[in-house]
Amino acid sequence: MHRTHTCGELTIKDLGVEVTLSGWVAKSRDLGGMTFIDLRDRYGITQLVFNMDDNEQLCAEGRKLGREFVIKITGKVIERSSKNLKIPTGEIEIKVSKLEILNAAKTVPFLIEDETDGGDDLRMKYRYLDLRRAIVRKNMELRHKMAHETRNYLSNHKFIEVETPVLIKSTPEGARDFVVPSRMNPGEFYALPQSPQTFKQLLMVSGFDRYFQIVKCFRDEDLRADRQPEFTQIDCEMSFVEQEDILNMFEGLFKHLFKSIKGIDIAEVPRMTYADAMKYYGSDKPDIRFDMKFVELNDIVKGKDFKVFDDAELVVGICAKGCAPYTRKQVDELTDFVKKPQIGATGLVYCRYNEDGTIKSSVDKFYLEEELQKWVNAFGAEKGDLILILAGKTDKTRKALNELRLEMGNRLGFRNKDTFAPLWVLDFPLLEFDEESGRWHAMHHPFTSPKPEDIALLETDPGAVRANAYDMVLNGTEIGGGSIRIHNKELQSLMFKHLGFSTEEAHKQFGFLMDAFEFGAPPHGGIAFGFDRLCSLFAGLDTIRDVIAFPKNNSGRDVMIDSPSTIALEQLDELKIKTTV
Ligand code: ASP
Repeated sequence: MHRTHTCGELTIKDLGVEVTLSGWVAKSRDLGGMTFIDLRDRYGITQLVFNMDDNEQLCAEGRKLGREFVIKITGKVIERSSKNLKIPTGEIEIKVSKLEILNAAKTVPFLIEDETDGGDDLRMKYRYLDLRRAIVRKNMELRHKMAHETRNYLSNHKFIEVETPVLIKSTPEGARDFVVPSRMNPGEFYALPQSPQTFKQLLMVSGFDRYFQIVKCFRDEDLRADRQPEFTQIDCEMSFVEQEDILNMFEGLFKHLFKSIKGIDIAEVPRMTYADAMKYYGSDKPDIRFDMKFVELNDIVKGKDFKVFDDAELVVGICAKGCAPYTRKQVDELTDFVKKPQIGATGLVYCRYNEDGTIKSSVDKFYLEEELQKWVNAFGAEKGDLILILAGKTDKTRKALNELRLEMGNRLGFRNKDTFAPLWVLDFPLLEFDEESGRWHAMHHPFTSPKPEDIALLETDPGAVRANAYDMVLNGTEIGGGSIRIHNKELQSLMFKHLGFSTEEAHKQFGFLMDAFEFGAPPHGGIAFGFDRLCSLFAGLDTIRDVIAFPKNNSGRDVMIDSPSTIALEQLDELKIKTTV
């Protein structure tokens, strides 16, 4: 028998019990007469003690144990003289009477402790050692619980989990596909699913009514900060539903996860239209942990000979509470911030509403104090506030001001990781114009239903057509999105036409779905949540990598198994593939 207990289990209640434990040597302290060892397993740490006076030979053996040796010991639970009340086993230790080395270990490349000396690259190369660290393992435990509670909630609401294939043909989520050559069909390729979108819709045609799957998806995108080429979704679809049914069902899931995992009661999730999100926050994923809404100033700033404002499509600003005393240097920092190429503003106008009631702006030359008073009124600013204004083309200016708002949120400490502010963003545009290809693209995907009252606009003003599409946003991060689908063939064909697909192209790519729609497709809709991201937000982490057991780095490499890698010539020959690199 390797163990009677785990290393996280024994407490003062077990005094005097004879136990056998197995685990890794986390740490050892040789104090001359006595040697202490921290024995670690998944469940915790238990202190072992070897005493020179009791058993010289055993103690000598104990002293020789290196870090990360795997050992098995037998001994008696005794009370510790210096207790550690921070851990559950901290009041006891095991007086060892028998020691067996199950496996020795080489010197590990970094400390297996919460505060490690290992850099990112090293830890990823030896990820299996990194995962021994409690702090990392806890993230995986959280992920497990999240998956478990997701399954609980959805099963309780009659969803069934159905696995869909991984070797498929292209799905329409708009990123590049990963492809897999088919040996049996030379010259032909499978694509890995960017999502199970078409399959879940087919399952609705099959009458499955409520589907979900915790599923791997693959997108060959350039990896921005928080992306992985393979990631996991909670993917769901429901039949005979309208948008309201979906919002309620998944708001329920969200609340259930918060309650069961974090013990937090989430009140009703507020809703905002896409148009308002852009107008008041300059983003389709507003961080509503803090207010600082945009105020548009076109009406009150134009016509005073200040060319920047006169020429601008949009003049818009935010009011930073209590920031009027910002020094010149601080304001310059903000100006530099908005002028960074990735933010792209040409300058920043500010206006201080000083404590003494005076109003001073960086454009005093053009505006009298009574005019500035109108600005102050527009923002509802109070004495001590600082107004920050950008001007230019509408979309670009809103985007830049969104960045500035988030920066101010950080500076003012409004973006606390323990505060959770979810939000539904509704009524996304159906289409977006892609300058590069000169074509309209589906903003969500081509199966998304336009709002019935907007269908006529498809011919006259495609950009104005709103979709029955929704995103769930948490603390400024999109965590899920979905839509009510088109479920009849005519509307689907019309949609493909507007997306610039010829009938043949549409048929070649999605003929199976269009065909299916002719055999009695129920009205349906769904949503998918980014599971990795949800877990990382629950864990208070900045990156999804930390909730993935074996993540890839920013170049899409798994440095541990060294993948991707070249393959043998015979393999390529068999696949009838020639590489040109
Ligand atoms: N398949 C969509 C996505 O991955 C989600 C959905 O529409 O259900 O974003």
